[in-house]
Amino acid sequence: QLTEVSVLGLGAMGSVLASTLLDAGRSVTVWNRTPGRAPELAARGARVVDSVRAAVTASPVVVACLLDHSSVQATLGPVADALRGRTLVNVTTTTPNESRALASWAADHGIDHLDGAIMAVPAMIGSGTGQIFYSGSRAAYDRLQPTFDLWAASEFHGADAGRAALVDLAMLSGMYQMFTGFFHGAAMVAAMGMSAPEFAARQAPFLAAMTQELAAYAKVIEGGDYTVPGQQSLHFSDLSHLVQASAEEGVDPAPIAAVQTLISREIAAGRGEEGLARVYEGLRAGGAA
Ligand code: NDP
Repeated sequence: QLTEVSVLGLGAMGSVLASTLLDAGRSVTVWNRTPGRAPELAARGARVVDSVRAAVTASPVVVACLLDHSSVQATLGPVADALRGRTLVNVTTTTPNESRALASWAADHGIDHLDGAIMAVPAMIGSGTGQIFYSGSRAAYDRLQPTFDLWAASEFHGADAGRAALVDLAMLSGMYQMFTGFFHGAAMVAAMGMSAPEFAARQAPFLAAMTQELAAYAKVIEGGDYTVPGQQSLHFSDLSHLVQASAEEGVDPAPIAAVQTLISREIAAGRGEEGLARVYEGLRAGGAA
């Protein structure tokens, strides 16, 4: 069982990752660019070092939880030689291509590399909720999964290092559009005096119920036949009235206008009788109707 881990980056997320490892009795070495972050980790037995090199050489497994790809490059670039033969787990949020670039750099330097994408806020780490996706070295994942499971449910997405980040960003796309949809709806009803908490109390159960539709849409997409009976047609889904009502209330219709653009593009292409999920094909075609 792996007992020694080094954690680079003691921000909100890195400090909780380190703390969870300490809770499990692991020997943890930590480093942060700005000294003095997370003093409670030292009090709880973490070894705090003042150089990246000291952190990297302390453990066979190095977890990087920094701000972004460029901070990872700046931090790890000078210690590539010290990382050779060790396993690097980068859970910093990056784009798929940034993850692939790091994987390629790691391969060039004899470093076993895994990319991790965290689907959780710090409070969820170690609490039995949340997920972390991994991609890259399968051998490293198999070896480390028991350790990863201390943080959150772990899922391996394949040897292409960019895949975990891709799934992560795809999930966040849905989340941010849902939040923005809520902001837009709340702005619309604010015009008639409904408070945001009042609207949230109505919107949350409605959206929760609507998520049941995702599986049905997914089945249509998988079948690839948007004429299967029982689908809500694109004509029926025309949102012109929603865009108009938003504008009439003095509320920027931009979020829903973006959806309407996708729907009207399909209708204009003569597919109005097909199901709403046909929008998926338009997106996959890169915007070509
Ligand atoms: P914080 O802003 O709390 O911490 C950022 C960390 O990065 C700090 O340790 C900071 O060090 C370090 N850092 C920033 N720039 C550099 C640099 N150029 N060189 C070295 N170190 C640097 O962020 P989080 O801990 O919340 O997030 C860390 C990563 O985890 C991010 O990629 C984030 O997207 C991801 N993540 C976070 C989630 C969250 O809910 N917090 C959820 C999912 C993913 P210093 O103290 O010196 O500034």
